[in-house]
Amino acid sequence: MTPDVRMIRLLMELRRHGIADTGVLSALETTPREMFVPEVFADRAFDNTALPIDEGQTISQPFIVAYMTQALELKPTHRVLEVGTGSGYQAAILAKLVKRVYTIERHAALQEQAVERFKKLHLFNIDARVSDGMRGWPGQAPFDRIIVTAAAREKPPAELLNQLVIKGSMVIPIDRGVDGQVLVRIRRTAHEFQSTDLLPVKFVPLLEGVAKNDGAVE
Ligand code: SAH
Repeated sequence: MTPDVRMIRLLMELRRHGIADTGVLSALETTPREMFVPEVFADRAFDNTALPIDEGQTISQPFIVAYMTQALELKPTHRVLEVGTGSGYQAAILAKLVKRVYTIERHAALQEQAVERFKKLHLFNIDARVSDGMRGWPGQAPFDRIIVTAAAREKPPAELLNQLVIKGSMVIPIDRGVDGQVLVRIRRTAHEFQSTDLLPVKFVPLLEGVAKNDGAVE
């Protein structure tokens, strides 16, 4: 099957599963996922599955990327923070839909590879850094939207909540122990944070601190 046919099949599958936002669908259509996965998996880049990347991490399933992007209800004027750059695929999708993307990764090796991909794709509206994303990016806060692509234990990090604008929202997987992980959307109002459960998910854990070069945790 040619890549075009495989992409059309993937887009049809996403539509069947409730992805209706045409902006989100066209961002997926125009972002070559094969560039974001290890070469040995290139022929599976159009499958609707998560795939392994370096450092024991994963690139999310296309459905989950599309679902989270749609749940963010993005506008072209938005400045968005992503925690967990990984391969850079989710950041590349966001970059097609908003003004500026700030993305944080704790593994320097992953961040460097992602930055190379952004350059190759001429995505110049992405700022990437290596740091602990649980702290957010204070120098660029507040953000219209925040997306976390690793699972937080029990609750969203307080510093991330504080870096949301009023009326802003965050999409984040929360690990509830025996109850498993659930994707949650949190909206900030003038007085409170309102949380809605969206769907069960499976993400790698959100870990504190920056990873050392040998992959060990500091
Ligand atoms: N969005 C990615 C998938 C990310 S997998 C993509 O499109 O490919 C989750 C990533 O979160 C991993 O790369 C992991 O190293 C990173 N991560 C985990 N905890 C983190 C933290 N505290 N700060 C920054 N990145 C973190």
